Amino acid sequence: MTATRTGAGRRRGDATAASEGATDGANGPAAQGSSATAAEPGPAGTGGPGDAGRTGGTRHAEAADGATVPDSRTGRPNGPAAQSSSAAGETVPAGTGGTGHTEAAVSAEAAGGAPDLAGFDPRRIADALEELAALSEPGPGVTRLAYTRLERRAHELFARWMREAGCTVATDPAGNTIATRAGRRPHAPALGTGSHLDSVYQAGRFDGIAGVVAAVETARVLAERGTETEHPLRFVAFAGEEGARFGQACLGSKLAAGLSSLSELRARTDRDGISVADAMSELGFDPAEAAATPWRPEEWAAFLELHVEQGSVLERGQIAVGAVDLISGSTRLELTLHGRASHTGGTPMRGRSDALTAAAEAVLVAEEVALDVRHHGTRATVGRLDVAPGSITTIPGTVTLSVDVRDVDADRQRETAAEIVRRVRAACDRRRVGLDVRLLADTSPVVLPVWVRQFITGAARQAGVGYRAMTSGASHDAQMINRVTPAGMVFVPSREGLSHVPEEWTSPVDIAVGTRVLTDALLRLDRRLGQLSGGERESGR
Ligand SMILES: [Zn+2]
Repeated sequence: MTATRTGAGRRRGDATAASEGATDGANGPAAQGSSATAAEPGPAGTGGPGDAGRTGGTRHAEAADGATVPDSRTGRPNGPAAQSSSAAGETVPAGTGGTGHTEAAVSAEAAGGAPDLAGFDPRRIADALEELAALSEPGPGVTRLAYTRLERRAHELFARWMREAGCTVATDPAGNTIATRAGRRPHAPALGTGSHLDSVYQAGRFDGIAGVVAAVETARVLAERGTETEHPLRFVAFAGEEGARFGQACLGSKLAAGLSSLSELRARTDRDGISVADAMSELGFDPAEAAATPWRPEEWAAFLELHVEQGSVLERGQIAVGAVDLISGSTRLELTLHGRASHTGGTPMRGRSDALTAAAEAVLVAEEVALDVRHHGTRATVGRLDVAPGSITTIPGTVTLSVDVRDVDADRQRETAAEIVRRVRAACDRRRVGLDVRLLADTSPVVLPVWVRQFITGAARQAGVGYRAMTSGASHDAQMINRVTPAGMVFVPSREGLSHVPEEWTSPVDIAVGTRVLTDALLRLDRRLGQLSGGERESGR
């Protein structure tokens, strides 16, 4: 009999929608609680650049869930009373990027008027998104899975655009496409930006793609301006970020970070039993070489990724840009419930071992545990349920379901997963149903470096663009690349917070604004890091 698959429908983005598949390896100290939220007078109230004509209204950014809560990392109360201080007292450490000035993590929205796009072209951005969206399997939305011909065609399109913008293009052994724009100092480490071009099943056209299109737009604008940089710039389209096909997210960036092994690439398979390794080989990539050839940290100075928020914090706050401080971790489990299949008519109600009624309890247990006040900020989701034999007239004998627990607190993330298993086991015992638990993946939350984020917030402030520091509920390539080189993330608003569905939408103007901030941040990094190291290596300039 065939198994029945349910629950693959539309999901709300909120902070919980996330790329499929967990990632292991990346980690960092986990901070408790929500994103830093100390309100800070923004461009409108500080008399900063571009401030003329604005009124001094200061809006206060809110926590990810809409409530103003104490920031448990700094111990500071947030909200209006805290507005005189920066969220984290952010200071660029000497030797890593700056002169020790303080920048705010959170700004009020720049008040009023159309944004100054500074040459970043929403029309061109929309056209690029359109062209990439056309590379899809038939059906609703965009389906362009990891390590498929369609994904490669998207990479080829990216490569062509980047060559036209004056870059040289190469592909690394993992299939990540890297376009390099030369700097004045050819041997200086590169500043990078980019994201991914693959999608989940029936996705939108923005998740990942917006960041790649932002990279393309950055290269185009710099070419038009004739801007020269000290450092080479590298624009990256990562391969295989979404875990939809293989159950593992960030395949390309994980390989780049040296966090994958050949055995893992062989062990992870798709629905048809094709392993990542096989899929790579089929496309002409050597998985053994990919696993053995990570990016070299000495070749990189920093990396920024622009991404759609996949939640509704920016939209609700009418804030143009998010500067990500924390990326949630995730613990991903597969639970298999073993009941006894038998005739639905012949078997009395009492004494059954119905795997699906036990699974129904499991689904509700996951929700209940995450809703508990002790788990404020935790997200737990059962996104897949396979019922066997899947017949109208047979009591379900076996159910396999997935549990995905996301948190910004590593300990709580694992405790939540353990608590869910404990309670599901108790429910199964009561129902005479057996339970097997398999850990699919486990990733700790990642704290992105403050000093990189300051270049993003500094760029936003100078451009008069509203911003706030915020947490990412989804995993991203940047969390892997942060293992190679310090990484930062720029979020742009998602309409209604929707993602991983065809309705996913971010306006091209919002992407243009975000791209302006991204580019300015790269140029600020280029200048600052160039000042720090340029004198030693260069002469006569
Ligand atoms: Zn993504």
